[in-house]
Amino acid sequence: MNYIDLRSDTVTKPTKAMYEAILNAEVGDDVFADDPTTVKLEALCAAKFGKEASLFVPSGTFSNQLALFTHCRQGEEVILDHNAHIVQHESGASAVIAGVQLFMLPGKNGMWDLNDLERAIKVNTVSTTRTALICIENAFGGSVMPLAYMNEVYKIAKRHNLPVHLDGARIFNAAEALSVDVKELAKNADSISVCLSKGLASPIGTMLVGSKAFIEQARQKRKLMGGGMRQTGILAACGIVSLEQMSLRLKEDHENARYLASLLNKIQGIKIDESQSAINMVFFDIDDDRKHHLDRFLFDHGVKILPYEGVFRFVTHNDLDREQIRKAAQLVGEFFQK
Ligand SMILES: *Cc1c(COP(=O)(O)O)cnc(C)c1O
Repeated sequence: MNYIDLRSDTVTKPTKAMYEAILNAEVGDDVFADDPTTVKLEALCAAKFGKEASLFVPSGTFSNQLALFTHCRQGEEVILDHNAHIVQHESGASAVIAGVQLFMLPGKNGMWDLNDLERAIKVNTVSTTRTALICIENAFGGSVMPLAYMNEVYKIAKRHNLPVHLDGARIFNAAEALSVDVKELAKNADSISVCLSKGLASPIGTMLVGSKAFIEQARQKRKLMGGGMRQTGILAACGIVSLEQMSLRLKEDHENARYLASLLNKIQGIKIDESQSAINMVFFDIDDDRKHHLDRFLFDHGVKILPYEGVFRFVTHNDLDREQIRKAAQLVGEFFQK
């Protein structure tokens, strides 16, 4: 059965251009750094972000944790939002791999009061461990962080001689929503993690972007983490298609999400979270106990969603068209009418 899958933009299948790129990919051994397609992807990605170098890694979690591991020493502190992916959805990895302490600063949609940020930065004393890194995330859930805000954070970090890591799993979605080039966003970070396997439709892969010296260190630590892979050109070939083609079509996903929101909005009782409506996602809630069974009902009718977790999140992507979106919204309406 061909499901309408609204769970995430990670569910996309590789495009036809990707399958063709795989067939034609020239490969080598990436642990020896001589896989030509991977070398090409890494150069292309670095250039896109206006940085010196980049590194192909297996996942977004891997990339973020490798960034922490490379920027920080064990026992040091990382400041990040209390709802950041790094602390909420990465299996406690920061405590295991980098061995850092996470200081979770509460914010709103990933943004702090900048006075709170300034106050949270610590130096080594007999009873404190120094802040070694500030992490920001853009896009953050369904919302985006304005360029000006990122710049303020970056200025504070530099005043304290600290690096900034940007978890940009959906940075191209953020750039589209903000109508800026990803280079402009990247100027406010020392390292950036960019997922190829989300809205960009690659089957596997994330890029860690940064300075030449940073990426050299990360390359060694990637091997330590078991991420030294061999004929990665097979995957890098898809990554090139992601960067060159798929990054240019995200507007369509965003428009489809707004279309979906407009249909759901007509259903009695549904409340769309407008603060998280900037990218390819629709967050909504409904004051109706039947919501706990919506996922089952939709599944039986050919639509996959994540179960209700205090909120519903529907995600649009390259494998969904308007007709499928209309059908999914219609089924949600039918369910709550019964
Ligand atoms: C998806 C995501 C990641 C990493 O995800 P993986 O599933 O490990 O590839 C990291 N940060 C954010 C904000 C994400 O959305």
